[in-house]
This record gives sequence, structure tokens and C-alpha cells, in this order.
Amino acid sequence: MTGGRVKGWCPGALKPMLSGDGLVVRLRPWLGRLTPDQVRGIAVLALRHGNGLIDLTARGNIQLRGIREEAHPALIEDLDALGLVDTDPVLEARRNLVLTPFWRMGEAIPRLASALETALGTPDAPALPAKFGFAIDCGPAPVLSAISADIRLEQGLGGALLCRADGAETGMIVAEDDAIPAMLDLARWFLGSGGAPEGRGRMKRHLASGASLPPAFLATQARKAASGTPKPGLFDQGALVGFAFGQLRAETLASLAELGPLRMTPWRMMMIEGAATLPEIPGLITRGDDPLLRVIACTGAPGCLQALQPTRDLARMLAPHIPEAGLLHVAGCVKGCAHPAAAPFTLVGTAAGFGFIRDGNAAAFPVVTGLRAEAASLAGLF
Ligand code: SF4
Repeated sequence: MTGGRVKGWCPGALKPMLSGDGLVVRLRPWLGRLTPDQVRGIAVLALRHGNGLIDLTARGNIQLRGIREEAHPALIEDLDALGLVDTDPVLEARRNLVLTPFWRMGEAIPRLASALETALGTPDAPALPAKFGFAIDCGPAPVLSAISADIRLEQGLGGALLCRADGAETGMIVAEDDAIPAMLDLARWFLGSGGAPEGRGRMKRHLASGASLPPAFLATQARKAASGTPKPGLFDQGALVGFAFGQLRAETLASLAELGPLRMTPWRMMMIEGAATLPEIPGLITRGDDPLLRVIACTGAPGCLQALQPTRDLARMLAPHIPEAGLLHVAGCVKGCAHPAAAPFTLVGTAAGFGFIRDGNAAAFPVVTGLRAEAASLAGLF
């Protein structure tokens, strides 16, 4: 299996990525949901085959870090027994959807997500670029608007289902039975209209470059206004809890398994399904005003091979200095993987210390360079 190993973006379970601390094995739980047995199993495997560190990704996936190369085949076998592995890497890559965690059993959201997962796994599913994704976000107000996705299913102003291309303000009203075919039609239109030359491309860029959507997707209804990113706390569906930098230890995951099924989110938080109280487990963020929610940092050095600086200790140190509505992104290099969008404050690792960027992403031009990783000198920047 290690022959299939790739170094680059979009690691999956079957195509792991090599990082500074071993292989990174990414799992895409079906329906974005893990049963307690699966959660327990992942915790055991993270310790047995890896370094016990687990990441939550910005697409609602979960990844095991520090997997030893020779252990990868046994890990896949164990994950398969837990029902967590696709039959082949192509199908695994295609199943690129994120769904709102705010759904109830028996509602349309899980039915639609399940139908889309099935449709993307059929042989005639469109062969989309690796980063091209779908969002099922048809709760009362969209919560995934800030999350990367190319085709979105939301509610229109009147409450009906709305299929919308990312980058367009209007979409097509669809009945539940027609929603997934409409999403796939839009994906086929994207490919057929030249959206992915050389196998790469995104919907928003395609529309911005002048592509005109099929009339049915243009003329109908506007979407509802987006709501902001939810904060940790209690919701009708359960307890939403966060983790500093979206990382937790296997032992923490094992503790969560005792509380109920877990729903993944793209905000590096998890929803403990059905929980009526917030758990008191070390390492969890349960308050919406926790300063650690104001900092984002990638793995950095030494865990990432491309990193030019360590990131997380610095971000943790600076968190209390970030204004309440602010956001600091500490990136180990200009790739800025943890937050590709602009942030009010960014510190980017370079060979000569850190560069400071205001209102830009990690690749933007720094207004100050050569900064040392010291809270005393950096806190004055925010
Ligand atoms: S931003 Fe750079 S250092 Fe950070 S994870 Fe991405 S490649 Fe590694």
C-alpha cells in the first residue's frame, strides 16, 4: 500500500501523505458522523499505529498523524473493519462533501447527504477536480457559507431547497427528489463548460472568468442570509466542543466515545450527538469566548516538512493578546494551509523569523519582517 503514497494535497486513507512526523491518514466519515465504536476504534488505532495525535480538518474530516509506513496496510485493514474505508482511492477522493452538523434523524439533510455520497460513488459520477466539493447546508440558515465548496444545497428565501453554484447569488429551487440530480447536473455543466482545464479548477473562479450558468440556475431565487460560524455550546442536536488548533489526543477521543456518536464539522469542532451538558474533559474548548478560538495555526515545524518555523506554541502564547473579534493565523510557511483566506492578522514563518501581514493571507506581502517568536515584542502588533 505504501506504493500508493503521495506527498501533496488531499491525503486520504488509501493515499496517505508523508509529513514530518510520519504518514497522515485522512478519514472521511460517512454522513460526517462516527458511532461510539468507530470513535473508540480510531483512538486505539491512532495509538497502535501512529503517534496518538488526531487532527480535525477544515472539511470536516479526521486525520491520524505519525503513522509508521510499515503499519499502513494493517491500519487500513483495521479501519476497514470499522467501516471507515472506501473501496478505492478514486471513490474516496470523489466523496468530497461537507454537511451541516445541525440535523435530526429522519430529516431531509441526512437523506440528501447519503444520496449524494451514493451518487458520487457510481461509475458514471462526474470526474471532478480533487478540491471540487459539495455542501449540504439546508438548515434554517446556511452555516457553511465560509467553508470551501463549489456546489451548495441551501434553503431559498421561501424555505424551499435551493441548488446554488458557489459564486452565484441565486440558484434553482428543487424538490427533495430532484436535489441530488440537480447538483450533479451542475457539476457536469462545470466540466462541460471548461471549468477544469488540465483537471483543476473551482466553480467560483469559473464564474468569475465569465462562464454563464445554465438559465435554470440563474433566474430563480436568492438564498437566505448566512449565519456566522457557531461557537462551542449546547444546541438542540447536542454539545458542540472545540479543540485548540483542531488537534486532540487519542485519549481525549476515547473519552468522547463514552458520550455518544460524534458529528464532524468544518470548524475544527465536533458535535456530541444528543448531549445535554457540556463535558468536562481536559483539552476541550467549551466556551465561546475562549481566546484559543481566536488563533489558527498549522502543524508547523517540526511536524510539517515544508515548515520554516514552529507555529502552535507561539499562537497559544499570543491568543490572550488578540482582540475579541480578531483572528490571528500563524503559518509555518507561505502556503498557509490552515487558513487559505485572509485574516486580520497573519504571522508567516520565513527562513529569517516571522513576517507580519495585516488583512491578507499567508502569501500576501508582509508589512514587517524578521520578527522573533516572542510574545513581549509581538503582542503590540494586534
Ligand atoms: S502552511 Fe506550510 S508549514 Fe504549515 S502545514 Fe502548510 S506547508 Fe506546512
